[in-house]
Amino acid sequence: MAPTFVDEIFEAFDRRGGDRYGEEITQLEHALQCAQLARADGAQDSLVAAALLHDYGHLFEGRSDAAEQRIDAHHEARGAALLKRWFGPEVTMPIALHVAAKRHLCAIEPGYEGSLSDASRLSLELQGGRFTPEQRRKFDSNPFAQDAIRLRRYDDTGKVPGASVPALETYRDLLSRLGQAAPKRSD
Ligand code: FE
Ligand code: FE
Repeated sequence: MAPTFVDEIFEAFDRRGGDRYGEEITQLEHALQCAQLARADGAQDSLVAAALLHDYGHLFEGRSDAAEQRIDAHHEARGAALLKRWFGPEVTMPIALHVAAKRHLCAIEPGYEGSLSDASRLSLELQGGRFTPEQRRKFDSNPFAQDAIRLRRYDDTGKVPGASVPALETYRDLLSRLGQAAPKRSD
């Protein structure tokens, strides 16, 4: 059978999923933990997919340790752009906004910034820091802002070294279904 877009996604994880996420876990472990947290939270399938794929852009970076090299490679935009070939905005927009959601939460939630991991705090600085009131308003007006914030919570929590979670293959049907629902978007 001809390879599908899901095969293409899984191949990217095969190639680069073993890269370090920046803490004590790999990209693949982080993706699987975030997806599992979304499921446990009762998130709709599109948000489970977004959680699984939110750092897809990292799998296409030249180096796995961009933050430590003091580069902001805009992985959220890169991932969303790649995934738009197959998925609609209910998957790609929370992904595109997951860094913005961190900057938003740092601005509105006391204690949030202090709760971030060292790597997240370092990247926050590279990503532009806390949102200004104007940036917050703009973020809030996005219809996918709340999903992006939910995704952000999974992202912040899905970093447990050695946690046992379902394998990537268990998401094949979910991704196939969502992708088929939004074939080949070109915008
Ligand atoms: Fe990320
Ligand atoms: Fe992440």
